[in-house]
Amino acid sequence: MRISCVGAGPAGLYFAIVMKRRNPNHEIVVHERNPAGTTHGWGVVFWDDLLTTLRNNDPDSAQAIADEAVPWSGQVVDVEGQPPLHNGGGGYGICRRRLLQILIERARALGVDVRFESEISELSQVADADLIVAADGVASQLRRHRADRFRPQIEAGRNKYIWLATTQRFPSFTFGFVPTSAGWVWFHAYSFKEGVSTFIVECAPETWKGLGLGTMRADAGLRTLESIFAKHLDGHELISRDSHDNRLPWLSFRTLVNRTWHADNLVLIGDAAHTTHFTIGSGTRLAIDDAIALAAALSEHDSLPGALDAFERRRHRALARVQRDARLSAEWFENLPRYIRYNAPTFFTLLLARRSRLLKRMPARTYLYLRGHYTKLTGRAASPLARIGRRAFPFGSKASRGIFRAEPGTPRR
Ligand SMILES: Cc1cc2nc3c(=O)[nH]c(=O)nc-3n(C[C@H](O)[C@H](O)[C@H](O)COP(=O)(O)OP(=O)(O)OC[C@H]3O[C@@H](n4cnc5c(N)ncnc54)[C@H](O)[C@@H]3O)c2cc1C
Repeated sequence: MRISCVGAGPAGLYFAIVMKRRNPNHEIVVHERNPAGTTHGWGVVFWDDLLTTLRNNDPDSAQAIADEAVPWSGQVVDVEGQPPLHNGGGGYGICRRRLLQILIERARALGVDVRFESEISELSQVADADLIVAADGVASQLRRHRADRFRPQIEAGRNKYIWLATTQRFPSFTFGFVPTSAGWVWFHAYSFKEGVSTFIVECAPETWKGLGLGTMRADAGLRTLESIFAKHLDGHELISRDSHDNRLPWLSFRTLVNRTWHADNLVLIGDAAHTTHFTIGSGTRLAIDDAIALAAALSEHDSLPGALDAFERRRHRALARVQRDARLSAEWFENLPRYIRYNAPTFFTLLLARRSRLLKRMPARTYLYLRGHYTKLTGRAASPLARIGRRAFPFGSKASRGIFRAEPGTPRR
């Protein structure tokens, strides 16, 4: 099969790897518009389950990824003026650029033709392919060519965020919340390689405007954030890789859903098909799961339409639930003032429960009361409350009710 894969992110590269491993005779070209070694973002987190999946699908790249990954242990919530709190658990961080290098080297070793500075904006550029895999991210150009079939809908989140790095070490996954004259500003941080941590800053748009973060020059913006988070950074700098017109790249997270993921011989995978808010740290994992599922479906079915149908059936359903959780998590941070007035232990409990529909729909105190009673009565942790919430509120969140606006357009809020 001749396959053109557009986008050398985790989705496109991993698909090329698993496809070649299944059948070395496939001719696979991966087109990447950027030069080699450039990418957006810093480190991403993942958990053991991803390493298991990688080992089952390509032990070589799994080992290289495991060797590069930096473990973090526990979660810390630090609300200014209250003692920081810790929780158990743990996972890994990895430099996104290094992850992609590993996948590129592995794909090339298997015979995949990875081409940089090769932008594909028209389907005619890859017309000789039997299968075109659009792994070109949330702003996919290929998706637009079949927008009438995919029916993409994008909703921009309310909060502003920026993906930065710092040389400060964060050995635990750390959430830090700091009040300012214009409202709360907070960060999510974790180490992802020796001496470097991801540092994502988020705040409400009113706070962002009130502090002038959108209009400051890049240097001034970084210095302002450093002074807000001085206690946490302890003299370490914040680093931004990219700036546009000397402005920091602040964004609003875009949640994308598509009615369908394939049209003729064009199929969407990864962020081109769906996005999940960064506060659940799953986009890379989901992109890799798509890649594996697509390669499996192509091997299991004789006809291309049959394979693409099977792929979509398998993954579309799985994604609906994760996207709902991600939207709830994003909304929790958008409604921070509802929760941050509680003391630190209660706030932490609410933070950990941020994917609950029930919590979204009732006063936090009522939620905690029900949760406490549930635990007392059953002796079990309260997670099934989420299921009760689903039954009690069958129409779900805005995301699952499909109240998205069509792409392109302006944010609804
Ligand atoms: C702030 C933030 C933090 C995140 N943290 C995590 C985390 O901790 N854990 C996690 O699992 N996920 C995380 N994610 C999500 C994760 O980064 C994405 O879900 C993942 O990168 C999706 O992979 P992809 O291959 O589908 O798309 P991408 O990684 O976006 O790759 C798409 C590629 O396509 C290329 N491309 C685009 N258009 C064209 C074209 N026309 N021609 C050729 N090439 C093109 C792009 O240059 C890019 O290289 C985070 C996201 C954000 C925004």
